[in-house]
Amino acid sequence: MKNKKKYWYDYLWIASPVYLALGFVNILFAWLGLIFFLTPLLAAIFGGDKLYCNKYCDRGRFFELLGGKLGLSLRKNPPRLLRSKWFRYCFLTFFMTMFALMIYNTYLVFAGRSLSEAVTLLWVWKLPWNWADTSFAAPWVAQFAFGFYGVMLTSTVIGLVTMIIWRPRTWCAYCPMGTMTQGICKIKHRKEMHNGGKHKASSRTSQNTSQ
Ligand code: SF4
Repeated sequence: MKNKKKYWYDYLWIASPVYLALGFVNILFAWLGLIFFLTPLLAAIFGGDKLYCNKYCDRGRFFELLGGKLGLSLRKNPPRLLRSKWFRYCFLTFFMTMFALMIYNTYLVFAGRSLSEAVTLLWVWKLPWNWADTSFAAPWVAQFAFGFYGVMLTSTVIGLVTMIIWRPRTWCAYCPMGTMTQGICKIKHRKEMHNGGKHKASSRTSQNTSQ
C-alpha cells in the first residue's frame, strides 16, 4: 500500500506539546499562545473559510494523533448535546467570560495588585507555579502569562478527556475558537451573498435602463 504523502503542516501537532512544555520551563512562554488564538481568527476574517481548522490547527492534529494513530480514544459517538448549537454557544460564552476575568486580573496587577504565581486549572484549582524567574518582566506581563497558560492547559485537559471518552477530535465540536471562526465565516458569506445580490440587482437595473 502506498504511503500518503506528508506535508509540513502534518507535523504541526508538535506545537501543542512543545507549548505546554515551555510553560514548565518559564511561564512567560505562555504569551506564544496568542499565535494559536489570533491566527484562526485572522484566517477566518481575511480568508473567510475554516482552512486553519481543516489544515493547520496543531491542537486538532494533536488529538487526532493521540486518539487516532496512538489509539488513545474509545472512538464512541459523542452525545448530540456536545455538537448542538446551544451547547457550543453556551460554552463559548462561558469560556470568553473566564477569559475576560483573566484579562481583568491582569489589569488589577497592572494597577498595583501583587502578582499571583499560580496557574488555574479547570477554573477552580490553583496550581503553584513559582519555580521560574519572571522578575525581568513587568508583573502584569507575568500575570497574563499565568492566566493565559491556565486557559490553554484547561482547554487541553478538557479536550484530552473528551478525546479519550469519545472520538479523537470531540473537542473540535465545541471548541470556542472553532465556534468563533464558524460564526465569522457565516457572517462573511452572508455579507458576500447580500453584496452579490445587490450587485446583480444593480447590473440588472442598468441593463434594463440601457435597453
Ligand atoms: S475546532 Fe478548535 S481545536 Fe479543532 S481544529 Fe478548529 S481551532 Fe483547532
